[in-house]
Amino acid sequence: MPNIDTVIKDLIIANRILAKEEVVDAYGHVSMRHPDNPKHFFIARSLAPDLVERDDIVELGPDGQPVRDETRPLYLERFIHAAIYEARPDVQAVVHAHAEDILPFGIAKATPLRPVIHSGSFIGARVPVWDIADKFGDTDLLVRNMDHGRDLAQCLGSNNVALMRGHGFASAARSLIEVVRMSVYLPRNARALLHAKQLGGEIKYLRQGEIDARNRGYSPYSTETWRAWEYWATKAGCSHMLTKPDHAHGHKK
Ligand SMILES: [Zn+2]
Repeated sequence: MPNIDTVIKDLIIANRILAKEEVVDAYGHVSMRHPDNPKHFFIARSLAPDLVERDDIVELGPDGQPVRDETRPLYLERFIHAAIYEARPDVQAVVHAHAEDILPFGIAKATPLRPVIHSGSFIGARVPVWDIADKFGDTDLLVRNMDHGRDLAQCLGSNNVALMRGHGFASAARSLIEVVRMSVYLPRNARALLHAKQLGGEIKYLRQGEIDARNRGYSPYSTETWRAWEYWATKAGCSHMLTKPDHAHGHKK
């Protein structure tokens, strides 16, 4: 089991990578379930992900509230994370972001966002679209409480990603590396699909068998996955925080 210090370092790296890869900007956030206390999770206080340091990481409980005295403002939309951890015991890490390239697919019903490129396969065969207005009418579109969060988590179901109409996306995965990778490739997959639509004609999505074959070959700490994590971390200027796994083949740290 990784120690807390390693977990928090990885979470800081995840924040920096998502910023460098332009998945998040001033807004958007990433969290990780507490490895020893699965009802709790770690997330930064209200701060742009690129600026997150060790002291900015806070521990929140199942209701999305801090478990220790905390006077600093927290992310308004932390309930996205709390509700997904509540609904999905298999999920270890969650990202919420507003990446521009995915937005059209939450707005236009004509073309569903599905995997079209090999690296996009991890978003899963089905990407549901959650519309906050369906249940809550006119809001400011933000996930401001557990009721909003639970409705989103219900729409996500057992999928990896849900689009949020006119707002962004939420992604969930079995590991931090996996959720970061998925969130980096999600906008790229969306961009490839948008460009393909401009060329016209039939769109060829990845076949279910291809998505399954990609997933079968995935391991969170494999050499291939580590390669991307190490590259992104270095590009984001935080290679010094990397904790190398003991083995490069599918073993957890
Ligand atoms: Zn948001």
